[in-house]
Amino acid sequence: MIVCKFGGSSVASSSQIIKVKKILEDNPNRRIAVVSAPGKRDKDDEKITDLLYKCNALVRNGSSSKPVFKKVAERFLQIAYELGLDQKPIELVLDDIRYKIDAGSGADYTASRGEYLSAFIISQYLKWEFVDAEDSIIIKSDGTVNPLTYDRLKMVFEDRRKRYVIPGFYGCGDDRMIKTFTRGGSDITGSVVARAVGADLYENWTDVSGIFSADPRLVKDSTVIDEITYKEVRELSDYGASVFHEEAIAPIQNTDIPINIRNTNKPEDKGTMIVPYSEKKKLAGVSVKGGLSRLSLRRLMLFKGQGTRHALLTMLHIFGVRPVYSLYGIDSVVWFFESKSAGESVLDAMCQRLKDEFMLDEIHVDSGYAIMGLVGTNLYESDSYLRAAERLKKENIKTYFMNYGASQVSATFGLKEEDKEKALEVVYDELFR
Ligand code: ASP
Repeated sequence: MIVCKFGGSSVASSSQIIKVKKILEDNPNRRIAVVSAPGKRDKDDEKITDLLYKCNALVRNGSSSKPVFKKVAERFLQIAYELGLDQKPIELVLDDIRYKIDAGSGADYTASRGEYLSAFIISQYLKWEFVDAEDSIIIKSDGTVNPLTYDRLKMVFEDRRKRYVIPGFYGCGDDRMIKTFTRGGSDITGSVVARAVGADLYENWTDVSGIFSADPRLVKDSTVIDEITYKEVRELSDYGASVFHEEAIAPIQNTDIPINIRNTNKPEDKGTMIVPYSEKKKLAGVSVKGGLSRLSLRRLMLFKGQGTRHALLTMLHIFGVRPVYSLYGIDSVVWFFESKSAGESVLDAMCQRLKDEFMLDEIHVDSGYAIMGLVGTNLYESDSYLRAAERLKKENIKTYFMNYGASQVSATFGLKEEDKEKALEVVYDELFR
Protein backbone atom coordinates (compact mmCIF):
# COMPACT_ATOMS: atom_id res chain seq x y z
CA MET A 1 0.00 0.00 0.00
CA ILE A 2 1.49 3.30 -1.10
CA VAL A 3 0.14 6.71 -0.16
CA CYS A 4 1.10 9.35 -2.73
CA LYS A 5 1.07 13.08 -2.13
CA PHE A 6 1.24 15.43 -5.11
CA GLY A 7 2.40 18.99 -4.45
CA GLY A 8 1.20 22.21 -6.07
CA SER A 9 3.50 22.04 -9.09
CA SER A 10 2.41 18.44 -9.80
CA VAL A 11 -1.23 19.53 -10.12
CA ALA A 12 -0.67 23.04 -11.51
CA SER A 13 -2.21 22.32 -14.94
CA SER A 14 -4.01 19.64 -16.92
CA SER A 15 -0.72 18.48 -18.45
CA GLN A 16 0.72 17.95 -14.97
CA ILE A 17 -2.39 16.07 -13.83
CA ILE A 18 -2.04 13.78 -16.84
CA LYS A 19 1.47 12.91 -15.55
CA VAL A 20 -0.03 12.24 -12.11
CA LYS A 21 -2.52 9.81 -13.62
CA LYS A 22 0.25 7.95 -15.40
CA ILE A 23 2.28 7.66 -12.19
CA LEU A 24 -0.71 6.36 -10.24
CA GLU A 25 -1.67 3.87 -12.91
CA ASP A 26 1.87 2.57 -13.17
CA ASN A 27 1.59 0.87 -9.79
CA PRO A 28 -1.67 -0.64 -8.46
CA ASN A 29 -0.36 -0.32 -4.91
CA ARG A 30 -0.67 3.46 -5.23
CA ARG A 31 -4.14 3.50 -3.76
CA ILE A 32 -4.49 6.85 -2.04
CA ALA A 33 -3.61 10.22 -3.58
CA VAL A 34 -3.32 13.31 -1.37
CA VAL A 35 -3.35 16.47 -3.47
CA SER A 36 -2.35 20.10 -3.04
CA ALA A 37 -3.99 23.10 -4.67
CA PRO A 38 -2.61 24.05 -8.10
CA GLY A 39 0.69 25.88 -7.72
CA LYS A 40 2.61 28.06 -10.17
CA ARG A 41 2.80 26.97 -13.81
CA ASP A 42 5.77 29.26 -14.35
CA LYS A 43 7.68 31.73 -12.23
CA ASP A 44 5.31 34.65 -12.89
CA ASP A 45 2.18 32.64 -12.18
CA GLU A 46 0.15 32.83 -8.96
CA LYS A 47 -0.54 29.94 -6.59
CA ILE A 48 -4.21 29.19 -6.04
CA THR A 49 -3.71 29.25 -2.26
CA ASP A 50 -2.17 32.75 -2.45
CA LEU A 51 -5.12 33.95 -4.54
CA LEU A 52 -7.55 32.49 -2.02
CA TYR A 53 -5.84 34.25 0.86
CA LYS A 54 -6.19 37.45 -1.19
CA CYS A 55 -9.94 36.77 -1.56
CA ASN A 56 -10.22 36.49 2.20
CA ALA A 57 -8.28 39.75 2.69
CA LEU A 58 -10.67 41.54 0.33
CA VAL A 59 -13.70 40.31 2.25
CA ARG A 60 -12.11 41.24 5.57
CA ASN A 61 -11.69 44.79 4.25
CA GLY A 62 -15.34 44.97 3.35
CA SER A 63 -15.01 44.32 -0.41
CA SER A 64 -16.21 41.47 -2.58
CA SER A 65 -13.79 38.68 -3.46
CA LYS A 66 -15.11 38.69 -7.03
CA PRO A 67 -12.14 40.07 -9.05
CA VAL A 68 -9.64 37.66 -7.47
CA PHE A 69 -11.99 34.70 -7.17
CA LYS A 70 -12.58 35.01 -10.92
CA LYS A 71 -8.96 33.99 -11.50
CA VAL A 72 -9.38 30.99 -9.18
CA ALA A 73 -12.55 29.87 -10.94
CA GLU A 74 -11.05 30.29 -14.41
CA ARG A 75 -8.03 28.24 -13.48
CA PHE A 76 -10.09 25.29 -12.21
CA LEU A 77 -12.54 25.46 -15.12
CA GLN A 78 -9.67 25.47 -17.59
CA ILE A 79 -8.13 22.40 -15.94
CA ALA A 80 -11.50 20.60 -15.96
CA TYR A 81 -12.14 21.54 -19.58
CA GLU A 82 -8.72 20.36 -20.73
CA LEU A 83 -9.18 17.09 -18.87
CA GLY A 84 -12.47 16.58 -20.70
CA LEU A 85 -14.64 16.82 -17.58
CA ASP A 86 -18.15 18.18 -17.34
CA GLN A 87 -17.81 21.78 -16.12
CA LYS A 88 -21.35 22.19 -14.83
CA PRO A 89 -20.92 20.47 -11.42
CA ILE A 90 -17.66 22.36 -10.92
CA GLU A 91 -19.35 25.67 -11.71
CA LEU A 92 -21.97 24.91 -9.09
CA VAL A 93 -19.36 24.13 -6.46
CA LEU A 94 -17.44 27.32 -7.38
CA ASP A 95 -20.61 29.44 -6.99
CA ASP A 96 -21.29 27.97 -3.59
CA ILE A 97 -17.70 28.58 -2.48
CA ARG A 98 -17.70 32.19 -3.61
CA TYR A 99 -20.95 32.79 -1.78
CA LYS A 100 -19.46 31.40 1.43
CA ILE A 101 -16.23 33.34 1.04
CA ASP A 102 -18.13 36.59 0.57
CA ALA A 103 -20.32 35.75 3.54
CA GLY A 104 -17.15 35.89 5.68
CA SER A 105 -16.32 32.22 6.21
CA GLY A 106 -12.76 33.20 7.12
CA ALA A 107 -9.17 32.48 6.13
CA ASP A 108 -9.06 28.75 6.86
CA TYR A 109 -12.24 27.90 4.97
CA THR A 110 -11.23 30.10 2.03
CA ALA A 111 -7.66 28.79 1.75
CA SER A 112 -8.81 25.17 2.06
CA ARG A 113 -10.97 25.42 -1.07
CA GLY A 114 -7.91 25.18 -3.32
CA GLU A 115 -7.18 21.64 -2.13
CA TYR A 116 -10.88 20.78 -2.03
CA LEU A 117 -11.45 21.73 -5.68
CA SER A 118 -8.20 20.14 -6.77
CA ALA A 119 -9.14 16.80 -5.16
CA PHE A 120 -12.71 17.06 -6.46
CA ILE A 121 -11.53 17.50 -10.06
CA ILE A 122 -8.72 14.94 -9.88
CA SER A 123 -11.00 12.30 -8.35
CA GLN A 124 -13.42 12.77 -11.25
CA TYR A 125 -10.65 12.55 -13.79
CA LEU A 126 -9.16 9.40 -12.24
CA LYS A 127 -12.59 7.98 -11.43
CA TRP A 128 -11.38 7.36 -7.90
CA GLU A 129 -13.43 7.98 -4.78
CA PHE A 130 -13.35 11.50 -3.29
CA VAL A 131 -12.84 11.66 0.48
CA ASP A 132 -13.25 15.03 2.18
CA ALA A 133 -10.53 15.74 4.77
CA GLU A 134 -13.02 17.90 6.67
CA ASP A 135 -14.88 14.81 7.87
CA SER A 136 -11.97 12.85 9.22
CA ILE A 137 -8.83 14.88 9.97
CA ILE A 138 -9.13 16.72 13.27
CA ILE A 139 -6.57 19.45 13.84
CA LYS A 140 -6.05 20.69 17.39
CA SER A 141 -5.72 24.39 18.19
CA ASP A 142 -1.92 24.07 18.38
CA GLY A 143 -1.86 22.71 14.81
CA THR A 144 -1.12 19.09 15.75
CA VAL A 145 -3.40 16.20 14.85
CA ASN A 146 -6.01 14.86 17.25
CA PRO A 147 -5.26 11.11 17.59
CA LEU A 148 -8.93 10.25 16.92
CA THR A 149 -8.11 11.10 13.31
CA TYR A 150 -6.22 7.85 12.79
CA ASP A 151 -9.16 5.55 13.59
CA ARG A 152 -11.51 7.65 11.52
CA LEU A 153 -9.24 7.59 8.48
CA LYS A 154 -8.67 3.86 8.84
CA MET A 155 -12.40 3.35 8.53
CA VAL A 156 -12.75 5.74 5.60
CA PHE A 157 -10.06 3.90 3.60
CA GLU A 158 -11.17 0.46 4.73
CA ASP A 159 -12.23 -0.92 1.35
CA ARG A 160 -9.00 -2.32 -0.07
CA ARG A 161 -10.49 -2.70 -3.55
CA LYS A 162 -11.04 1.03 -3.91
CA ARG A 163 -8.69 3.88 -4.70
CA TYR A 164 -9.15 7.32 -3.17
CA VAL A 165 -8.29 11.00 -3.56
CA ILE A 166 -8.20 13.22 -0.46
CA PRO A 167 -7.36 16.94 -0.33
CA GLY A 168 -4.27 17.94 1.62
CA PHE A 169 -3.67 20.94 3.90
CA TYR A 170 -6.90 21.01 5.95
CA GLY A 171 -9.25 19.16 8.25
CA CYS A 172 -11.60 20.40 10.91
CA GLY A 173 -10.85 21.95 14.27
CA ASP A 174 -12.15 20.67 17.60
CA ASP A 175 -15.04 23.12 17.02
CA ARG A 176 -15.95 21.28 13.74
CA MET A 177 -15.02 24.33 11.64
CA ILE A 178 -12.58 23.91 8.76
CA LYS A 179 -8.98 24.38 9.89
CA THR A 180 -5.77 24.37 7.87
CA PHE A 181 -2.29 23.26 8.78
CA THR A 182 0.52 25.79 8.27
CA ARG A 183 1.54 26.67 4.69
CA GLY A 184 2.78 23.70 2.70
CA GLY A 185 0.77 21.47 5.04
CA SER A 186 -0.35 18.88 2.48
CA ASP A 187 2.89 17.06 3.35
CA ILE A 188 1.45 16.67 6.86
CA THR A 189 -1.82 15.28 5.48
CA GLY A 190 0.22 12.73 3.52
CA SER A 191 1.98 11.58 6.69
CA VAL A 192 -1.27 11.42 8.65
CA VAL A 193 -2.95 9.28 5.99
CA ALA A 194 0.11 7.04 5.63
CA ARG A 195 0.14 6.38 9.36
CA ALA A 196 -3.62 5.80 9.56
CA VAL A 197 -3.64 3.13 6.87
CA GLY A 198 -0.29 1.64 7.92
CA ALA A 199 1.21 2.35 4.49
CA ASP A 200 4.33 0.51 3.38
CA LEU A 201 5.55 3.66 1.70
CA TYR A 202 4.67 7.35 1.54
CA GLU A 203 5.62 8.85 -1.82
CA ASN A 204 5.86 12.62 -1.87
CA TRP A 205 5.79 13.82 -5.50
CA THR A 206 7.16 17.27 -6.19
CA ASP A 207 9.13 19.13 -8.89
CA VAL A 208 12.66 18.21 -7.82
CA SER A 209 14.34 14.81 -7.82
CA GLY A 210 14.77 14.68 -4.04
CA ILE A 211 16.44 16.58 -1.25
CA PHE A 212 19.79 18.06 -2.22
CA SER A 213 22.80 18.09 0.05
CA ALA A 214 22.81 21.88 -0.50
CA ASP A 215 20.31 24.19 -2.20
CA PRO A 216 20.98 23.59 -5.93
CA ARG A 217 20.13 27.22 -6.72
CA LEU A 218 23.15 28.24 -4.65
CA VAL A 219 25.49 25.28 -5.14
CA LYS A 220 25.17 24.31 -8.77
CA ASP A 221 26.77 20.87 -8.55
CA SER A 222 25.12 19.73 -5.33
CA THR A 223 23.68 16.23 -5.54
CA VAL A 224 20.52 14.47 -4.40
CA ILE A 225 20.76 12.71 -1.03
CA ASP A 226 19.78 9.08 -1.59
CA GLU A 227 18.98 8.31 2.05
CA ILE A 228 18.38 10.57 5.03
CA THR A 229 16.86 9.95 8.46
CA TYR A 230 13.68 11.50 9.90
CA LYS A 231 15.81 13.40 12.40
CA GLU A 232 18.21 14.75 9.81
CA VAL A 233 15.45 15.91 7.50
CA ARG A 234 13.78 17.82 10.28
CA GLU A 235 17.06 19.57 11.05
CA LEU A 236 17.74 20.38 7.40
CA SER A 237 14.29 21.86 6.88
CA ASP A 238 14.65 23.89 10.04
CA TYR A 239 17.77 25.49 8.52
CA GLY A 240 15.82 26.48 5.42
CA ALA A 241 15.81 23.44 3.10
CA SER A 242 12.24 23.54 1.89
CA VAL A 243 11.46 20.25 0.16
CA PHE A 244 9.60 18.51 2.96
CA HIS A 245 7.49 20.28 5.62
CA GLU A 246 9.28 20.19 8.98
CA GLU A 247 6.06 19.28 10.82
CA ALA A 248 5.33 16.34 8.54
CA ILE A 249 7.66 13.95 10.36
CA ALA A 250 5.69 14.09 13.63
CA PRO A 251 2.70 11.94 12.57
CA ILE A 252 4.93 9.07 11.45
CA GLN A 253 7.63 9.52 14.06
CA ASN A 254 7.08 6.18 15.79
CA THR A 255 6.32 4.15 12.70
CA ASP A 256 8.79 2.73 10.24
CA ILE A 257 7.14 4.15 7.11
CA PRO A 258 9.76 5.38 4.66
CA ILE A 259 9.05 8.57 2.71
CA ASN A 260 10.24 8.77 -0.86
CA ILE A 261 10.61 12.26 -2.34
CA ARG A 262 10.03 11.91 -6.09
CA ASN A 263 9.87 14.16 -9.15
CA THR A 264 6.59 14.16 -11.12
CA ASN A 265 8.45 15.51 -14.14
CA LYS A 266 11.13 12.81 -13.92
CA PRO A 267 9.40 9.74 -12.52
CA GLU A 268 12.36 7.58 -13.51
CA ASP A 269 14.56 9.28 -10.86
CA LYS A 270 14.78 7.36 -7.59
CA GLY A 271 14.61 10.46 -5.40
CA THR A 272 15.42 10.64 -1.71
CA MET A 273 14.38 8.04 0.86
CA ILE A 274 13.60 9.46 4.30
CA VAL A 275 13.94 6.59 6.76
CA PRO A 276 13.68 6.18 10.55
CA TYR A 277 17.26 4.90 10.88
CA SER A 278 20.18 4.58 8.58
CA GLU A 279 23.47 2.73 8.73
CA LYS A 280 25.03 5.22 6.35
CA LYS A 281 27.98 7.13 7.70
CA LYS A 282 27.71 10.11 5.41
CA LEU A 283 27.00 13.74 6.14
CA ALA A 284 23.45 14.53 5.01
CA GLY A 285 23.62 18.15 3.96
CA VAL A 286 24.21 21.80 4.68
CA SER A 287 21.64 24.56 4.55
CA VAL A 288 21.51 28.25 5.32
CA LYS A 289 18.69 30.49 6.42
CA GLY A 290 18.98 34.27 6.16
CA GLY A 291 16.73 37.23 7.01
CA LEU A 292 17.45 37.10 10.72
CA SER A 293 17.80 39.84 13.34
CA ARG A 294 19.62 39.66 16.64
CA LEU A 295 18.36 40.83 20.00
CA SER A 296 21.02 41.03 22.71
CA LEU A 297 20.47 42.01 26.30
CA ARG A 298 22.52 42.16 29.47
CA ARG A 299 22.25 42.90 33.17
CA LEU A 300 24.50 41.94 36.00
CA MET A 301 23.00 38.84 37.70
CA LEU A 302 20.18 38.76 35.14
CA PHE A 303 19.39 35.12 35.77
CA LYS A 304 19.74 35.23 39.54
CA GLY A 305 15.97 35.52 40.04
CA GLN A 306 13.97 32.39 39.32
CA GLY A 307 11.93 32.20 36.13
CA THR A 308 13.69 35.08 34.38
CA ARG A 309 14.20 33.19 31.13
CA HIS A 310 10.58 32.28 31.03
CA ALA A 311 9.45 35.83 31.77
CA LEU A 312 11.72 37.23 29.04
CA LEU A 313 10.43 34.76 26.49
CA THR A 314 6.84 35.54 27.43
CA MET A 315 7.53 39.19 26.75
CA LEU A 316 8.97 38.35 23.33
CA HIS A 317 5.91 36.24 22.62
CA ILE A 318 3.59 39.15 23.49
CA PHE A 319 5.32 41.24 20.81
CA GLY A 320 5.15 38.42 18.26
CA VAL A 321 8.90 37.75 18.27
CA ARG A 322 9.74 34.05 18.15
CA PRO A 323 13.41 33.21 18.59
CA VAL A 324 14.77 30.68 16.12
CA TYR A 325 18.05 30.46 17.94
CA SER A 326 19.14 31.30 21.50
CA LEU A 327 22.48 31.77 23.23
CA TYR A 328 22.63 32.19 26.97
CA GLY A 329 25.53 33.70 28.89
CA ILE A 330 25.90 34.19 32.62
CA ASP A 331 24.49 37.75 32.59
CA SER A 332 23.34 38.01 29.00
CA VAL A 333 21.25 36.45 26.32
CA VAL A 334 21.15 36.70 22.54
CA TRP A 335 18.19 35.69 20.42
CA PHE A 336 18.00 35.43 16.67
CA PHE A 337 14.57 35.83 15.10
CA GLU A 338 13.09 36.36 11.63
CA SER A 339 13.41 40.05 10.77
CA LYS A 340 10.09 40.05 8.95
CA SER A 341 8.24 38.91 12.08
CA ALA A 342 8.33 42.36 13.71
CA GLY A 343 8.45 45.93 12.38
CA GLU A 344 10.66 48.69 13.74
CA SER A 345 7.98 50.28 15.94
CA VAL A 346 7.12 46.93 17.52
CA LEU A 347 10.78 46.27 18.25
CA ASP A 348 11.24 49.73 19.77
CA ALA A 349 8.24 49.18 22.01
CA MET A 350 9.46 45.71 22.97
CA CYS A 351 12.97 46.90 23.82
CA GLN A 352 11.61 49.73 25.96
CA ARG A 353 9.34 47.35 27.84
CA LEU A 354 12.11 44.79 28.38
CA LYS A 355 14.49 47.47 29.54
CA ASP A 356 12.01 48.87 32.05
CA GLU A 357 10.68 45.61 33.41
CA PHE A 358 13.97 43.78 33.69
CA MET A 359 16.07 46.86 34.51
CA LEU A 360 18.52 45.96 31.78
CA ASP A 361 21.93 47.59 31.49
CA GLU A 362 22.05 47.01 27.74
CA ILE A 363 19.61 46.01 25.05
CA HIS A 364 20.27 46.09 21.36
CA VAL A 365 18.67 44.90 18.11
CA ASP A 366 20.43 44.65 14.77
CA SER A 367 19.68 42.81 11.56
CA GLY A 368 21.44 41.12 8.65
CA TYR A 369 22.21 37.69 10.09
CA ALA A 370 22.01 34.14 8.77
CA ILE A 371 22.36 30.72 10.32
CA MET A 372 24.00 27.79 8.60
CA GLY A 373 23.31 24.24 9.70
CA LEU A 374 25.47 21.24 8.95
CA VAL A 375 23.50 18.03 9.35
CA GLY A 376 24.57 14.41 9.67
CA THR A 377 24.10 11.57 12.14
CA ASN A 378 27.81 10.87 12.26
CA LEU A 379 28.81 14.48 12.84
CA TYR A 380 30.05 13.53 16.29
CA GLU A 381 32.38 10.83 15.16
CA SER A 382 33.91 12.83 12.35
CA ASP A 383 35.93 16.02 12.30
CA SER A 384 33.52 17.69 9.85
CA TYR A 385 32.51 20.41 12.26
CA LEU A 386 36.09 21.45 12.89
CA ARG A 387 36.95 21.29 9.22
CA ALA A 388 33.98 23.51 8.37
CA ALA A 389 35.00 26.01 11.07
CA GLU A 390 38.61 26.08 9.90
CA ARG A 391 37.64 26.54 6.29
CA LEU A 392 35.31 29.44 7.16
CA LYS A 393 38.18 31.06 9.06
CA LYS A 394 40.59 30.52 6.19
CA GLU A 395 38.14 32.19 3.80
CA ASN A 396 37.80 35.17 6.17
CA ILE A 397 34.14 34.50 6.81
CA LYS A 398 33.24 35.77 10.24
CA THR A 399 31.23 33.43 12.46
CA TYR A 400 29.19 35.06 15.22
CA PHE A 401 28.80 31.82 17.10
CA MET A 402 29.27 28.12 16.58
CA ASN A 403 27.29 25.43 18.27
CA TYR A 404 27.75 21.74 18.25
CA GLY A 405 25.90 19.30 20.37
CA ALA A 406 22.36 20.42 21.11
CA SER A 407 20.67 17.98 18.76
CA GLN A 408 23.45 15.42 18.21
CA VAL A 409 22.91 15.54 14.47
CA SER A 410 23.68 19.12 13.59
CA ALA A 411 26.17 21.92 14.03
CA THR A 412 25.22 25.59 13.71
CA PHE A 413 27.20 28.60 12.52
CA GLY A 414 26.00 32.19 12.95
CA LEU A 415 26.93 34.34 9.95
CA LYS A 416 26.40 37.75 8.40
CA GLU A 417 23.67 37.68 5.77
CA GLU A 418 26.05 38.88 3.05
CA ASP A 419 28.37 35.92 3.69
CA LYS A 420 25.75 33.21 3.60
CA GLU A 421 26.17 32.13 -0.03
CA LYS A 422 29.95 32.07 0.15
CA ALA A 423 29.85 30.19 3.46
CA LEU A 424 27.57 27.55 1.97
CA GLU A 425 29.79 27.18 -1.07
CA VAL A 426 33.04 26.77 0.88
CA VAL A 427 31.59 24.37 3.45
CA TYR A 428 30.09 22.33 0.64
CA ASP A 429 33.44 22.34 -1.10
CA GLU A 430 35.27 21.28 2.04
CA LEU A 431 32.95 18.48 3.09
CA PHE A 432 30.90 17.26 0.16
CA ARG A 433 32.84 17.71 -3.08
N1 ASP B 1 -1.68 24.82 -0.88
C1 ASP B 1 -1.12 25.00 0.42
C2 ASP B 1 -0.01 26.02 0.36
O1 ASP B 1 0.26 26.58 -0.69
C3 ASP B 1 -0.68 23.72 1.04
C4 ASP B 1 0.25 22.85 0.23
O2 ASP B 1 0.45 23.07 -0.96
O3 ASP B 1 0.83 21.92 0.81
O4 ASP B 1 0.57 26.32 1.35
